[in-house]
Amino acid sequence: MLRSRLFWKLFLGFTLVNLLTAAALVSATWGWQRDEAASLVRSEVRTAAALLEGVAADWAREPTEDHAATLRQLAERIGTRVSVRRTAGDETLRVGPTAGATGPAGRVRAQINLGPEGAPIGDLRVERPSAALESTLWRLWRNYAVYALPVALVMVLAGYALVAHLVGPVQALQQAALAMASGAYRQRAFVTNRDELGTLARSFNQMSEELAKRISQLQESDRRQATVLGGMVEGVVAVNKRQRVLFANDAAGRLFEFVPPEVEGRPLLEVVRNHPLHQAAKLAAATRSPQRLEIDWDDRILSVQVTPLRGESAGAVIVLHDTTELNRLENLRRDFVANVSHELKTPLSTIKASAETLLMGAIDDKEHRTKFLLGISAQSDRLEALIQDMLTLARIESAQQPFEITTVAVAGAVEACLVDYEDHAQAKRIALTAAPPDVAEPVKVRADRNGLRVILSNLVDNAVKYTPEGGRVTVRWETASEGGVRLVRIEVADTGVGIPEEKLGRVFERFYRVDEARSRELGGTGLGLSIVKHLTQSFGGDVAVENRAEGGARFTVTLPAV
Ligand code: ADP
Repeated sequence: MLRSRLFWKLFLGFTLVNLLTAAALVSATWGWQRDEAASLVRSEVRTAAALLEGVAADWAREPTEDHAATLRQLAERIGTRVSVRRTAGDETLRVGPTAGATGPAGRVRAQINLGPEGAPIGDLRVERPSAALESTLWRLWRNYAVYALPVALVMVLAGYALVAHLVGPVQALQQAALAMASGAYRQRAFVTNRDELGTLARSFNQMSEELAKRISQLQESDRRQATVLGGMVEGVVAVNKRQRVLFANDAAGRLFEFVPPEVEGRPLLEVVRNHPLHQAAKLAAATRSPQRLEIDWDDRILSVQVTPLRGESAGAVIVLHDTTELNRLENLRRDFVANVSHELKTPLSTIKASAETLLMGAIDDKEHRTKFLLGISAQSDRLEALIQDMLTLARIESAQQPFEITTVAVAGAVEACLVDYEDHAQAKRIALTAAPPDVAEPVKVRADRNGLRVILSNLVDNAVKYTPEGGRVTVRWETASEGGVRLVRIEVADTGVGIPEEKLGRVFERFYRVDEARSRELGGTGLGLSIVKHLTQSFGGDVAVENRAEGGARFTVTLPAV
């Protein structure tokens, strides 16, 4: 309180006003009281003169001792100094209490002429020492002092209480406002006054309560927005009309390799060195119309939507969508459709041509019609195989057909497969053998029984297909451990043509064939290995291919062991 300038201003002002009022009152009453006291003394002296006039005139006419004694007695009683002068004898009688050392100025006097008017016989002078007046005034002063001091003290205390009562709430409000300005929004001013200051404080408290509520609502919605923007896959960058970054989310940071809060306030072109993007943001802000474009960024294709921002900042919001994967899938789809059409076209046109030839008369030609009919049959088989493979692939990919993952003994699956291809191999004089590992426990994998069969069939079929007569196809398996995970490796090795090194990586692609004509001739669809790859991956495994040093190819399927 004592440090408050307002307090001192009010308190000193109040005290000063009080003092001035008191001084004015004292000076006003003092003059009046003093005059009153003086006129009282003067009238006393005049009254005394009037009382003494008769006796004094007697003495002036006849200066007997009797008259003098009466005069003396009266003067003593009244307490005034009296002097009577006789004109006749030029004689003066002085009676009454002796005056002190006070000079003429210190006395109050009255003078009366004695005798008839025009023929005075003397004069009477009555005087009182002004000490009487002074003592009256002194008493007055003392009274002032005795009453004024406590009154002044009370006034000072009352002033202090009053000013403190006013300044206290102002200080409380000031402190609360300062705290609020520095961020403590839910700030209360404790004021108990039942006046306008109290109302002000209550309004202030209501306001701070409301403000705190609003701010926490704003913060909450801010947090929500930040969570939404942060969780978005799309990159979001907002810029103002001067193309400076207002905000960027985490996805944008990951795309353009920056730390979002650090780029705020920096020019867009400096943050993302891409002119088309910069131009689009500028155009959107200037024309207030949305812009769409595609930009290349680090081997990636970004689809960009720029929307003008409304409001004061009047910039734009840039939303970036990484469409690389989408584009890749779109290309795959396009290629797939083209490939499928191409694959279907050849057998269909052969079937159509053969049927037309038969219709045109060849049907009656016994020798040739069998050839055409066999051709139609072979092409139909090819179409069927193709459609079968495509259906298998589609089913695996769409996971429409849930696999029944169980424990499958590898030896049994390999044996069954080899039995299927025995005739095939024998026809080509190929030695088709199984090489089981030298372990007591049978090796088992976790897979779908049919799926494993399709995998093995495709690999063995290829091995027999691409191995010339007199060759060898061996299926080997063993258990292994990779990074603490137990797995089984199944290997299908042949002594065939092998695969050119640069094409090893592509044989698992759909419809990819190293030698198209040869594959067709052998009845291949170009889908076998992609089915193998998809199946092994669905079982949590993988497949790899390499050329054997001694010639031929080796496909290795890895599956989780039991
Ligand atoms: P296809 O039906 O043509 O055999 P695949 O997807 O099974 O289709 O195989 C793709 C291509 O990989 C084949 O066209 C062939 O060129 C090559 N290939 C597959 N297996 C072998 C193998 N054991 N030896 C040599 N080449 C092979």
